[in-house]
Amino acid sequence: MAIAKKTPAEIAIHRFEYAPAPEATDHIKVEPRYSLFIGGRMLEPHSKKRFPTINPATEEQLSEVAEADEVDVDHAVVAADKAFGPWSRLSPSRRARYLFRISRLIQERARELAVVETMDGGKPIKESRDVDIPLAAAHFFYYAGWADKLDWAFPNRKPRPLGVAGQVIPWNFPLLMLAWKIAPALAAGNTVVLKPAETTPLSAMLFADICRQAELPPGTVNIVTGAGKTGSLVVSHPGVRKVAFTGSTEVGKLIQRSLAGSGKRLTLELGGKAANIVFEDAPLDAAVEGIVNGIYFNQGHVCCAGSRLLVQESIAEPLLEKLKVRLSTLRLGDPLDKNTDIGAINSKAQLEKIEGMVASGIEEGAEIYQPECKLPDRGYWFKPTLFTNVSQSYRIAREEIFGPVLSVLTFRTPAEAVEKANNTPYGLSAGVWTDKGSRILWMAERMRAGVVWANTFNRFDPSSPFGGYKESGFGREGGLHGLLPYLELN
Ligand code: NAD
Ligand code: MN
Repeated sequence: MAIAKKTPAEIAIHRFEYAPAPEATDHIKVEPRYSLFIGGRMLEPHSKKRFPTINPATEEQLSEVAEADEVDVDHAVVAADKAFGPWSRLSPSRRARYLFRISRLIQERARELAVVETMDGGKPIKESRDVDIPLAAAHFFYYAGWADKLDWAFPNRKPRPLGVAGQVIPWNFPLLMLAWKIAPALAAGNTVVLKPAETTPLSAMLFADICRQAELPPGTVNIVTGAGKTGSLVVSHPGVRKVAFTGSTEVGKLIQRSLAGSGKRLTLELGGKAANIVFEDAPLDAAVEGIVNGIYFNQGHVCCAGSRLLVQESIAEPLLEKLKVRLSTLRLGDPLDKNTDIGAINSKAQLEKIEGMVASGIEEGAEIYQPECKLPDRGYWFKPTLFTNVSQSYRIAREEIFGPVLSVLTFRTPAEAVEKANNTPYGLSAGVWTDKGSRILWMAERMRAGVVWANTFNRFDPSSPFGGYKESGFGREGGLHGLLPYLELN
């Protein structure tokens, strides 16, 4: 039987049509303005300044948050310092109880948190509902379990907390990054001053409310909002003993320089340019799903995104054909719609960065492919994009785009795949698709990446450490390893 071959565009026309399935927002209460969470209370900022946070899918203002200045940050660090004594002396099982309580409250308020996360940041509701919020709760559960077992975690050592942790996080997984930072810090007996990203502060404000609901001792967690300036005040405050930063490599380097000689502990989780490597013996349909998940999940705003597809030459043609068909079935639009695959780009600035990088790819000679899809009239959007004809020297193959843009390169031998995969200043993650277990192990041994996924991508578990090599940073979050940066081992 002859099967007529359809072009991706033809298949797109025949894709399923979905009726709108918007998540309800009437149960959400976002305050018109927020203050700073310091010493267990919401405090008016000394700065008297506030700035708006918008919904990037509609450009509507959702709320206004405080811009913490030097005095505000000092208040927060002093509150955390005051709370450190009692918190660190609390019996470990009591500390665990608070963490369990927080995780249960996150679960109870999961729907509300997911909707707010999606409205403030633009990510599809199915991702915030099924990934961000459940993983944030799981992180608190996991570290609650460690709180009273530190002596077993590090046998024959005397694990002691450090003091006040200053933590700065990005906008791509706001509540999840908060959980990655706060859960291990508290479990180890430290107190916290955290600064969320300026475009996505609202789930952190809800988290402040969860801390109050959990009756967490005042000052144990403090949340100060603001932009880069506020972040630099947090990390440079002399009362901070440990700095944890997740964000761009550029800012990470700045922070590392500024902390040199201060004696502060530092961990950095920075950018990435991961290779997703598909061998000719891989199950192609599964690989296509993994490629899509690797680069289009969360609009590609993922530090470990599989932004470089390395495909073995012999299967490049059929694989790319399948991938193009799959791209044409992705649904872009209202992030609150439960069927949406690709939501809004987080901010205007990020959209401009993506547009600039894509323009450079075209200019340097790469061939662009975008499926037909209609972009909404308002908000910030970018079509899922892939580039073929990419040379390793192109900016789109070297620099992090942090958007839904895939660069495709080919290889012939496993050795060439390793060489190309490692040919990057980054080293956060990698993916390998093959039928052979021995090849997975062979590749994993040679890849300079903190995580190597085999026949899957973007898979996370609180018990599994995550972190980078080279310019992707240092230190690990998650797992037993994630406790180490928050402890002194005698
Ligand atoms: P960014 O570095 O500009 O901002 C990250 C955070 O740092 C924000 O809260 C920001 O306000 C703050 N900040 C900015 N300047 C600062 C300074 N001088 N001192 C202290 N804090 C400062 O990055 P971004 O554009 O908001 O985030 C995207 C980047 O983050 C990407 O490069 C991505 O790879 C990286 N990222 C890494 C991970 C990881 O786990 N490795 C996770 C998420 C994002
Ligand atoms: Mn916002």
